[in-house]
Amino acid sequence: MKINRRNFIKTGAVAGGGILLSQIPSSKIFSSSIKDLKNPIVVSTWEPNLKSNAKAMEILLTGNNSLNAIEEGIKVTEADPTDSSVGYGGLPDAEGVVTLDASIMDWSGNAGSVAFLQNIMHPISVARLVMEKTKHVMLAGEGAKKFALENGFKEENLLTEESRTAWLKWKEKNEKKDNHDTIGMLAIDKFSNMSGGVSTSGMAFKLHGRVGDSPIIGAAMFVDNEVGGAVSTGNGEYVMRTLGSFLIVEKMREGNSPQKACELAVERVYKSYKNLIDVNVCYIALSKSGEVGAYSLKKGFTYCVTTPDDNKSYESDFLIK
Ligand code: ASP
Repeated sequence: MKINRRNFIKTGAVAGGGILLSQIPSSKIFSSSIKDLKNPIVVSTWEPNLKSNAKAMEILLTGNNSLNAIEEGIKVTEADPTDSSVGYGGLPDAEGVVTLDASIMDWSGNAGSVAFLQNIMHPISVARLVMEKTKHVMLAGEGAKKFALENGFKEENLLTEESRTAWLKWKEKNEKKDNHDTIGMLAIDKFSNMSGGVSTSGMAFKLHGRVGDSPIIGAAMFVDNEVGGAVSTGNGEYVMRTLGSFLIVEKMREGNSPQKACELAVERVYKSYKNLIDVNVCYIALSKSGEVGAYSLKKGFTYCVTTPDDNKSYESDFLIK
């Protein structure tokens, strides 16, 4: 196995103001030993989410906790109509309906999630309300929507013209569309408390009713404040069947670095399932001490690491070379 060289590819403003992305040399390697826990840190899947990390860091730098940072950070991507995998503007299912999955978890082991939620812009906030206002962990479909509406959320059309056109084209030609851009985010605040969250519109043109890994605690996201956390993106069916994020946290608990733990979880998928054509599975992990790991089955996964002075994206190492 190659040593993970996380090539830093983009940078963005850390907090406040606009997000300035600029291309910079890809030779720098992220140093994954951020041990100073007075300094908060945010990590997330996919380079376009630098903007969400910037928002989360802005929240952390006001002294706010990691749960608020996760919610506000993820909301940035959910509200972005140009992001075709999350929230507003997400690609619909086979019947042209945008259906959303999300989950959130705090440092005390509290968790909330929503599955198959429709017409609500911020599933991450509904997931948080499920966690805080009910004795349940997951609400799905019409029930989740009813709960959201009763709690002040408004019903909105999330299908943009661009997404509708893409769906019509897909119906006509039945073309496959890769759509693996779930936002998964982990953050540690100045109190050394970690939270995590994930939000997605799931696989593009999936069967109506399909729910992915994102609302399943331990699949797409898991946080244990004594050890660390992990989030995933990619083909949720493979993450669900191996309970990847929980596996990564348990591997870290056994003493593995976040990097090694991500590699072990990807290797588990590779060993368990032979036919991996058109499949990618990607993980990032953050240890309690602020160390970051990332790994994917195949090339192409990028992730963001944000500290008070830096907001950069990196290319993940991968298994199938
Ligand atoms: N994991 C998501 C799902 O299977 C897909 C993605 O990461 O975009 O729903």
